[in-house]
Amino acid sequence: MTNDQYTFDNPKTRYDALSPPGQHQPEPGLDSRLRPRPDLGEQSYRGTGRLTGRRALITGADSGIGAAVAIAFAREGADVALAYLPSEQSDAARIAELVRSAGREAVLLPCDISVNEECTRLVDDAANALGGLDILVNNAGKQVYCEKLEDLADDAFDATLRTNVYAMFWITKAALKHLPAGSSIINTTSVQAYKPSPILVDYATTKAAINAFTKALGAQLAERGIRVNAVAPGPVWTVLQVTDGQPPEKIAAFGHDTPLGRAGQPAEMAPAYVFLASSESSYVIGETLNANGGMPTP
Ligand code: NAD
Ligand code: MG
Repeated sequence: MTNDQYTFDNPKTRYDALSPPGQHQPEPGLDSRLRPRPDLGEQSYRGTGRLTGRRALITGADSGIGAAVAIAFAREGADVALAYLPSEQSDAARIAELVRSAGREAVLLPCDISVNEECTRLVDDAANALGGLDILVNNAGKQVYCEKLEDLADDAFDATLRTNVYAMFWITKAALKHLPAGSSIINTTSVQAYKPSPILVDYATTKAAINAFTKALGAQLAERGIRVNAVAPGPVWTVLQVTDGQPPEKIAAFGHDTPLGRAGQPAEMAPAYVFLASSESSYVIGETLNANGGMPTP
């Protein structure tokens, strides 16, 4: 275990290569039941004022990557609105407490972003509660593997597209009226956009779409002073993987096939989001920042 994200050490051994025990939860699952526990940066993330006074809405902020981003943003000085599904209330409450113990405001907004109207309400509630909005992180996602296309139900395909692509569109569209020049929009894509797994046809499709959406919208919004970028994680140890994101037999060696030989931890994703949210990345637009343990991407 590292002291903080700046500690000089070997990235290969910064975290153990996990061999998680067999486990399964129904979607969306609870981070609190994931074994071993992922590192969300609770003990390690050290802020240095990079987002002082900023106001962020983060979807999927109760667990995994979104939770690590919420903790990091708060410690960098931002107030945070956390969106998540109602069944994830206990996870969200824990992250909100960490945000508050950093001295920042946390707003809890349970919702279902696969419904257009809920997306619009979510954005307005976040902006009202925070007194404005200048960071939007579209991070919530759905990943359910399916071995054969014939078995991929229309409803399942639709749900993945709605959660990963339509919701990003609806939320971003609703957010624009709140976002002043200087604001940052960050979307979570995946290495699956470039190296699609044969059992994640629908999911990989959405992640490629998120990349294209990011680049097109980044070019469109540049003249308004709003930057749009993406982060593309590789295999990261989160509850997404044990809620049918992967076949159970793949969990034990999750992430072992990366050049670093291990899965990433959510805490290792957060600095990429901080960089893209902060004005230090003022000349970075339409970029996808890969954090994937060394897998080459185009
Ligand atoms: P996670 O399960 O912790 O987070 C996903 C979150 O999405 C859930 O907590 C839930 O709150 C939210 N969500 C899903 N459906 C929703 C809905 N209908 N309404 C509202 N919220 C909904 O898992 P994670 O791995 O941290 O996933 C975060 C993002 O990272 C996702 O977009 C995922 O595709 C992406 N990603 C993950 C990995 C990985 O290996 N874990 C790799 C690449 C990309
Ligand atoms: Mg969750």
